[in-house]
Amino acid sequence: MPVLFAVFVLLIVAVGTPAQAAPRVVASIKPLQSLAAGVMDGIAVPDVLIKGSASVHAYALRPSDADLLNTADVIFWVGPAFETFLEKPLRALGGKARVVRLRDSPNLKILPARNGGLWHGADDHDTGGQDGHLWLDPGNAKVMVAMMAEALSTADAPNAARYSANAAVMYDKLDALDAELKARLAPVSANPFIVFHDAYQYFENSYGLNAVGSITVSADRAPGARRVLSLKQRVGSDSLCVFAEPQFEPKLVQMLISEAHGRAGVLDPEGSGLTPGPDLYFVLMRDLAENLSACLASSP
Ligand SMILES: [Zn+2]
Repeated sequence: MPVLFAVFVLLIVAVGTPAQAAPRVVASIKPLQSLAAGVMDGIAVPDVLIKGSASVHAYALRPSDADLLNTADVIFWVGPAFETFLEKPLRALGGKARVVRLRDSPNLKILPARNGGLWHGADDHDTGGQDGHLWLDPGNAKVMVAMMAEALSTADAPNAARYSANAAVMYDKLDALDAELKARLAPVSANPFIVFHDAYQYFENSYGLNAVGSITVSADRAPGARRVLSLKQRVGSDSLCVFAEPQFEPKLVQMLISEAHGRAGVLDPEGSGLTPGPDLYFVLMRDLAENLSACLASSP
């Protein structure tokens, strides 16, 4: 009997007292879900709103998304000028969830939206003059990880030590990623290229890359005839690399490749083709570096 009792006590100790349920966490886009998943490792898996190949620029909230928001304890998003589809639904929650606008951190590097030349005004989500694609800089990712760990520790105090330990692991991984990408991209950093929409400024800035323009004025609107002509001339003069995106119609890219003899590549800034989870952010960043290098290193 004493042996059985000892086993029973050991079991209780091993399982522990029933912990408070882990917070239900929702992120707007896959890269943010990935960072949150890293911070929550071993505790729970955060949900993500935009799961498939849809772009944040042309997204409409679905009933299942509304359910996720309604039952969430913590919600991570960039902010109202970026995920415009979330502005009203989050306001309607009326303080039911802890809503973390990641763009509000004073420690982030925030870049102004580009204008002029073959950069053409802001995306519709870049109103306010700022570029919202701020996760494409590992330094900014570290700041967002810190914000997530802080918000989660407040919402779920019993697990605070775990969140902060996970965040420390993430900082190291992000530093290593940054060093790796610096080395990978240095040989091609001077080579000019054209992107589909102006999403990569943070990535270019981090690695000294030489993007010279974007195809679209806005991610969901086709460019006008004059702009198409300027692009053809610019691409044709150096047989530039032109990068399509999986979410968008590649017709214009194909035209620039065939008629202006550009070189073809693909970039996926939101990880639309990738499986959600803690590794997605790192795969996304490495894929960007690989796809850029592959095209930029090839001779015209
Ligand atoms: Zn974008």
